[in-house]
Amino acid sequence: MYLDHSATTPLDKNVLEEMMPYLTNHFGNASALYSQGQKAKKALDSARFTIAENIDANLDEIIFTSGATESNNLVIKGVVENFENKNVDNNIKPIIISTNIEHASILEVLKNLESQKRVKLLFLEVDEYGIVSVENFKEILEKLQKEGAIKNLVLVSCMAVNNEIGTIQPVSRVGRICRKQNIIFHIDAVQAFGKIKTSVEDWKCDLMSLSAHKCYGPKGSGVLYVKEGTEMNAQIIGGGQERSYRAGTENIANIVGMVAAFKISEKQREEEQKTYEELQIFAKNYIEKNIDFALWNGVEIGEFRVKNNINFSFSNSEKNIEISGESLLMRLDLQRVSISLGSACSAGMVAESHVLRAIGRTKIEAKTGVRITFGRSTNKEDLEIALAKIVKAVHALKK
Ligand code: PMP
Repeated sequence: MYLDHSATTPLDKNVLEEMMPYLTNHFGNASALYSQGQKAKKALDSARFTIAENIDANLDEIIFTSGATESNNLVIKGVVENFENKNVDNNIKPIIISTNIEHASILEVLKNLESQKRVKLLFLEVDEYGIVSVENFKEILEKLQKEGAIKNLVLVSCMAVNNEIGTIQPVSRVGRICRKQNIIFHIDAVQAFGKIKTSVEDWKCDLMSLSAHKCYGPKGSGVLYVKEGTEMNAQIIGGGQERSYRAGTENIANIVGMVAAFKISEKQREEEQKTYEELQIFAKNYIEKNIDFALWNGVEIGEFRVKNNINFSFSNSEKNIEISGESLLMRLDLQRVSISLGSACSAGMVAESHVLRAIGRTKIEAKTGVRITFGRSTNKEDLEIALAKIVKAVHALKK
């Protein structure tokens, strides 16, 4: 039972079919002028058109990358470098506002730049449900205004949906404030696409990252939306592809696959979400009924949480209950149940979750945040079997 669809999803069969010609016969380089090259270029243009249409962007605002990690790196490093180049003569540090529940591909880049003393970071608070405080954002802006430092604010970066607890963030409110004040706003929308409406127009963002493999597309493929006029320096330089923001021969098969996957996800979105909501309510009730010390992480089921996510801590400090997260995962793995502890992106390590710490969980509770995420292959019967196994394993490990 694969219950970790927020970590990745299997490749959709129809997507593979669309990719196949470009992995075999149509291998041309999209920059070449003869017909094989032009065939690739046509596929690239068509993919760009489709994704632009899906997120309400213009054709030339779409940059294809190797995934959201690259998109996020490009945004942060590119915007900072642009500021540095314009301010070489004075020693001003650019300011970035983000949140402390972002994915590692944002947080680690920010910390890295901070350790090089190249940026000043300000983090927005989240409440006990994991929702970013817009009030706190306004307060920070006012403070920067008063200090005369607002001109050094180069970027605001906030995710649309959290990858661990599935909370939907108030990005359109943040976006409207940024747009009014001419502040560059980036959204990591990796966990949003296919789950909620993802529109750069509605969200008023200047930059937005997407990843194919969370939507049944190929791994190693992503998008960066760059609003026309956004000042950002390229980080991969070479043959000038992707409007020189991201050089390198385009991976046409992956791009075609990614866009086909996005198209299917958007088409099926509303129906899928309805199915997932039923599973979500069922799974939450099942666990709460059978494990009275389980702690529900994040906001209640409803408009502020995506439908395919449930997250519980099975350690409970108040009740003095500690479960080994590693043992739980291993036990379940032996029984062919794949779930995730925190986020899967920490290279197999079980570290305490920074997201669960941010919402006020203790260190012990934050080490056993179990995330279950449904996908197209999840059905109620199998889910019930998996939940029964989870309940049994948790009770066996309880000490
Ligand atoms: N941001 C978020 C919120 C994610 O969940 C992920 C994937 N775990 C990424 C960024 C990185 O995406 P990719 O795997 O395409 O590099």
